[in-house]
Amino acid sequence: MALLQISEPGMSAAPHQHRLAVGIDLGTTNSLVATVRSGSPVCLTDMDGRTTLPSVVRYGEGDAVEVGKAALAAQKTDPLNTISSAKRLIGRTLADLAQDAQYLPYRFTPNERVVELNTRQGAKTPIEVSSEILKALKSRAEETLGGDLVGAVITVPAYFDDAQRQATKDAARLAGLNVLRLLNEPTAAAIAYGLDNASEGTFVVYDLGGGTFDVSVLQLTKGLFEVKATGGNSALGGDDFDHRLFCHLLEQNDLSKLNERDSQLLLSLVRAAKEQLTSQTEAIVEATLSDGRKIHTVITRQEFHHLTQNLVQKTIEPVKQALKDAGVTKADIKGVIMVGGSTRMLHVQQAVATFFGQTPLNNLNPDEVVALGAAIQANVLAGNKTDGEWLLLDVTPLSLGLETYGGLAEKIIPRNSTIPTARAQDFTTFKDGQTAMTIHVVQGERELVSDCRSLAKFTLRGIPPMTAGAARIRVTFQVDADGLLSVSAQEQSTGVQAQIEVKPSYGLDDDTITQMLKDSMSNAAEDMAARARAEAVVEAESLTDAVNAALELDNDLLDAEELAQIQQDIADLQGRLKDSNAEDIRAAVTKLSRSTDNFAAKRMNRNIQRALTGQSVDDI
Ligand code: ADP
Ligand code: MG
Repeated sequence: MALLQISEPGMSAAPHQHRLAVGIDLGTTNSLVATVRSGSPVCLTDMDGRTTLPSVVRYGEGDAVEVGKAALAAQKTDPLNTISSAKRLIGRTLADLAQDAQYLPYRFTPNERVVELNTRQGAKTPIEVSSEILKALKSRAEETLGGDLVGAVITVPAYFDDAQRQATKDAARLAGLNVLRLLNEPTAAAIAYGLDNASEGTFVVYDLGGGTFDVSVLQLTKGLFEVKATGGNSALGGDDFDHRLFCHLLEQNDLSKLNERDSQLLLSLVRAAKEQLTSQTEAIVEATLSDGRKIHTVITRQEFHHLTQNLVQKTIEPVKQALKDAGVTKADIKGVIMVGGSTRMLHVQQAVATFFGQTPLNNLNPDEVVALGAAIQANVLAGNKTDGEWLLLDVTPLSLGLETYGGLAEKIIPRNSTIPTARAQDFTTFKDGQTAMTIHVVQGERELVSDCRSLAKFTLRGIPPMTAGAARIRVTFQVDADGLLSVSAQEQSTGVQAQIEVKPSYGLDDDTITQMLKDSMSNAAEDMAARARAEAVVEAESLTDAVNAALELDNDLLDAEELAQIQQDIADLQGRLKDSNAEDIRAAVTKLSRSTDNFAAKRMNRNIQRALTGQSVDDI
């Protein structure tokens, strides 16, 4: 949109309709969707009143796809076609998973770019699986809220790298969701708590979910959340506690090799037992295996704590590291926010309390807190928030840099830098007469490029031939608010430039995604046309609102002819809203947007002038 919306300090923007936006916690185990209603965030429920949707997708007969509880229930009987924990696989390759893959009950298709699971409906990537979960949450939201969504904020673990973030965005795109922003889960939790408690100081977010452990150190000041450091373990969560109990059960019953059906059955039973042990001191696992053997095992809370105490302790090391990274000590921590279903376990609460010497904060539901925070952020980004603005700063989870001579990695943006950020560094040629330079972008903490993750390569050509070391090439790294990177290189004397938006060299490429989108469109061409139209109408209305509001304030900046043109374009656009197609509406939007370009520029000048009037140079 060309038109700049500017409101005077202290004055709210022009009144406009409430735009439907949601926050989505796309979890390894459970996913949730929340929205802000009458100023407060709430999680939306399914028809049975549940807020959590198990992150499980089953590819059934024909083209039937089940998501959530029904899929979870089928996991025991149809493990090969029922995909859970897709989040552990998203944005990764089989090589990344290494031996982990052998513990998963799926059939993997050999593919170097992306993990692919062979189901009865053909090969499915974790991106497609996740998009089914997002679609289910999207329809839940649209049915509950009675309208199309303007967009969503989707949360990701702080540990997610570029590929995993990009893959999450791709999943959203496939689900037909407009991603307003990706948000780190611990940051979302802090938003939920920050608004409720209006606290200031340094806080720790301890998030133990089903598949990941994240810890973040946050600095909260009035209206500002700053993530000082993040850490954790992307392969530690409630699943591991289930696994310990599972092994214990096998030992107790002298079982060695189980078929997939029996393993899935026992796994779901030990998980239920584990959850019971937070409110009971004993739980019983009872089952009949495929070969008719009966299992009856009593597990006490004490036994369970004993079996898993070292898993709990494993979370403390990353906590210490994050404190160190943030340059703070335990004594500086004003509060510890507990997030994730696994923080319900009593020995987890205890260990955290003991380490910090204080009772952790858990007055918000640990399952819901991330989605609630995401909803608050979505509400702000959709433009619904009218009172005081607040800033949100996030950090990069890993260092970003490039390869220099000798295969060494030079860090440009160190880990835990606040984003969005941009940093430049000058490099030079190492050979006389060198006219091209390959920029190899890497991510990681290690010194050698071979130990870091390669993100992208591009070449700057047309460097004027000079003696080695004379050329000056400025390389600029820019990380946007979603944590996605773009890199540019410029030779300083000639201005020759090359740049790249760093798209990971793994995951789905754009063509594949476009093809998938096309496929889904040809299945539901009418749906898509209706959706495109609805989106165009939303865009048209928001532009019209903005122009009308601007005209009310500043129409004296326009001469009669310009004003008449704008008014005619508004009328034309309004005329098309009723029955024109998406393309025609968009054409009118573009026309109005063009005819207001000049107006926008004049308004900006006026506002800058107003802002500067009456201030001395020292104030600026
Ligand atoms: P994720 O963010 O990974 O999707 P959640 O925050 O939803 O995960 O947490 C899911 C985990 O929490 C599962 O391992 C589940 O067994 C565990 N969990 C949920 N409720 C309880 C409970 N009452 N006691 C112990 N663990 C629980
Ligand atoms: Mg979670």
